[in-house]
Order: sequence, then structure tokens, then C-alpha cells
Amino acid sequence: MGSTPRGPTLGRMRIDLHTHSTASDGTQDPGVLVAAAAGAGLDVVALTDHDTTRGWDEAGAAALERGIGLVRGMEISCQRDHRSVHLLAYLFDPDDADLLGEIEHARSSRLTRMDRMVERMAADGIPITIDQVRAQVAAGATLGRPHLADALVASGQVPDRTTAFRDLLHNESPYYVSHYAVDPVRAVRLVRAAGGVPVLAHPFTVTRGRALDVDVVEEMVAAGLGGIEVHHRDHDAAGRALAQDLADAHDLIVTGSSDYHGEGKPNRLGEHTTDPAQLARIVEQGSGSAAIGL
Ligand code: AMP
Ligand code: ZN
Ligand code: FE
Ligand code: FE
Repeated sequence: MGSTPRGPTLGRMRIDLHTHSTASDGTQDPGVLVAAAAGAGLDVVALTDHDTTRGWDEAGAAALERGIGLVRGMEISCQRDHRSVHLLAYLFDPDDADLLGEIEHARSSRLTRMDRMVERMAADGIPITIDQVRAQVAAGATLGRPHLADALVASGQVPDRTTAFRDLLHNESPYYVSHYAVDPVRAVRLVRAAGGVPVLAHPFTVTRGRALDVDVVEEMVAAGLGGIEVHHRDHDAAGRALAQDLADAHDLIVTGSSDYHGEGKPNRLGEHTTDPAQLARIVEQGSGSAAIGL
């Protein structure tokens, strides 16, 4: 287990740096996900569950068993001006108290937020209970809207998560309730302080309401942002170009990834990938935890 990628194979490595398991709202257990990544021909995968590192150990064991590289990560839900911002964090110290404090705050706020979403739906005649939602969540996992979607699927009210989000759970829905989330600039600072590498996730997504202000990205850069996810299915050509321009202007690490959620989303492992030289920059900057098998 070294700290830099293998030189001779660098050019051929296939790297996917954004995936979700049952530790949050993916549908595969961390070990199964890592096996699926190996099966899909990936050389390196990052596990980036929402607001939790609880999948790291299982994923690490699976990565060693399968002979695939694992970058331990997390996707932090952030909020600025009622707008959601997602920050990927890689190779940070999972026991950092300040970062843990923010994550725990968000995770507990997600519980009360879900109660309120279920209450709103029930009051409007949609028959769903919090127990039905909880039945969809692995013990200790970060609770999210996809679990509510799964409960609606299980009770036969919608065919799949995509339909649930389109008709009932999207950000402008009357049933939508936000939860506490850290400011993105503070999150960047916390990730750096924990020895990690902060990478802005899908900043210019066309599928989730208003896109992020470039001003906010520049504030994040000033606070220590390390990279930006350029290649992602939720970016159109203009969004990708804007993200690449920001990367060029500020010498940011450029990543590409699938944002795989197992069967919960159409995203497939390796549908977008990260250049090995860009991964090398992440590994070089990350000092809070080690990459496995690199
Ligand atoms: P939350 O963090 O609880 O607000 O839920 C956000 C999560 O919902 C994100 O991780 C997305 O992956 C997921 N999500 C957003 N839109 C969709 C969709 N159309 N289909 C499936 N999952 C979605
Ligand atoms: Zn998700
Ligand atoms: Fe995201
Ligand atoms: Fe994600």
C-alpha cells in the first residue's frame, strides 16, 4: 500500500471517483459495490456516501480482496442561500471532531426533515408512514429522499425512484423539506483541516433546480477547494465547459465519475472517469487517510 499510483499502469487505469452504497442511498452494500466496480473493469473506485464514512471498512476489505484501488471519500451536503451544494471529500481523517460534528448535525436534521416530508404527504392523502420509510434504510445509514422514494415504490404508488422524484420529491415539490447543511465554504475548510481533498461535485447540474453561482465557487476556491467534477451526466455541454474553465483558471483537479447509486439510478459505473494524473494529485494532497491498493 503506497501513496502514489503505480507508474507503469497509470495510462491505462480506469478511475471512477463518486459512488454511493447502502451506507447512504445506494442500493448495494459497500463490498458488493466494490466487487461490481472490479467487475465493470475499473482499476480504482471511490466510495463517497452522503455524510458518512461507515462504508469505508467493508469497502476497504473488498478492495484488497478484489485487487482494486479504493479512494475513501464522502459527499457532504452543503447549503448556501437555500441552494444545495454537494462537496466530495477524499482521504480525510474520518475521526476529525469538527468535520464529524457537522456531519452528525446534518444526519440528525435529516431524521426530523423526513418526518415532516411524510407528514406533508399524508396530510395531502398520500398514504405513507415513517415506519415504511425506515424499513428501506440499512441500520445507521444516512437517511435521504431516495429511501422515501423506495417506500413509495414498495407500497406500489410509483414504479421507480425516477418517477418518485419527478412527480413528488423534487426540490420544488410542496412535499420537499430541506435539512440542516453546512455552508460550502466552511465545508471546504473543514475537509482541508482534516487532511482531505475537497472537490466540488456536479456544480452545474441541469436536473436540480437553479445552478450554482460562480461567485460561490470562487469563494470555495479561496477557502482551499482542490478540485471540480467536470464530467458528470447531470452536466450539459455548457455546464461542463464552465466547470472546465474554472478548473483551468484556478488550477483545480478535474474529475469525472458516475455518481453510481446501484439500481436506484440509471447511472452506470465508469460511465465517466477521471484521468490518472488527476487522481495522482488527489493522492498527493490527501493526508488524513490512505488510499487502498494504490
Ligand atoms: P436528499 O439528500 O435526501 O435531499 O436526497 C438527494 C439524493 O436524491 C441525491 O443523492 C440524489 O442522488 C437523489 N436523487 C435526486 N434526484 C433523483 C432522481 N431523479 N432519481 C433518483 N435519485 C435522485
Ligand atoms: Zn445520493
Ligand atoms: Fe450529489
Ligand atoms: Fe452523489
